[in-house]
Amino acid sequence: MSSSSSSPLSGKVAVVTGAASGIGKSIALTLAQAGASIGIADLNLEGSQAAATEIEKAGGKAIGVAMDVTQEEAVDKGIDEIAAKFGGIDILVSNAGIQIVSPIVDFKFADWKKMLAIHLDGAFLTTRAALRHMYKDKQRGGTVIYTGSVHSHVASKLKAPYVTAKHGLLGLCRTLAKEGAEHGVRSHVVCPGFVRTPLVDKQIPEQAKTLGISEDEVIKKVMLGETVDGEFTTLDDVSQMVLFLSTYPTAALTGQSFTVSHGWFMH
Ligand code: NAD
Repeated sequence: MSSSSSSPLSGKVAVVTGAASGIGKSIALTLAQAGASIGIADLNLEGSQAAATEIEKAGGKAIGVAMDVTQEEAVDKGIDEIAAKFGGIDILVSNAGIQIVSPIVDFKFADWKKMLAIHLDGAFLTTRAALRHMYKDKQRGGTVIYTGSVHSHVASKLKAPYVTAKHGLLGLCRTLAKEGAEHGVRSHVVCPGFVRTPLVDKQIPEQAKTLGISEDEVIKKVMLGETVDGEFTTLDDVSQMVLFLSTYPTAALTGQSFTVSHGWFMH
């Protein structure tokens, strides 16, 4: 990791939730490569620490903290710990998420509540905790980026709470864009198409079973059927968008949603 004082995020501090795995981990590595100090916040402490060690071995700065984003105290404590270690918070990437698939008629209420807690309570709690630091200095300000999904804009069968929560993030982001402006804080939702992570790998056999089709059909028809090139979105596709938004200099871009999906959804 060859970051220097001329790196675009040199001197900045970024917190990425759900960064022990998948998209969050890739975003954390990319922002570290661009010079930011990184707080890895994940339910999985071992994974958080492993990701932080990977960044440090490559010459970057990182700390791994255990955080369940649905727990108010844990979120406040974790964000404060990262801010104290590196001196404030400039970027929050609220990314932690899970998937549970089932038709609405069979959806367990407990699973519905769990999904909304992780995706929406988690986004709210981490945002609030980060804003308490970002609002201290208007000149410094900050950027909050939510990992939405193409499902922030379209629906798919079997994903009622996921689609509901990912649509909800647009509302939080737009409200924050208005409230945060006077404090120099901007917000965005980055909306990936299907990316091959553990979250998606788990769904392929589940959807095949529920929809009564083969796993190959789930990939080619359900997941990639609407893309322009039949390709999965890559970790780098998503991370580069987050990097672009993290380095964008003005509030010309705020309250926006950016879809990274190989043409699956076009605004
Ligand atoms: P992943 O399973 O690889 O990683 C998710 C991470 O979140 C894990 O490290 C997990 O420990 C952590 N996590 C789960 N619950 C948590 C909690 N309560 N508190 C803190 N951390 C928690 O999944 P991924 O595919 O990288 O997904 C990351 C985000 O991207 C999610 O919000 C997901 O909805 C979104 N997304 C994924 C895809 C995709 O195709 N993979 C597409 C669009 C959006």
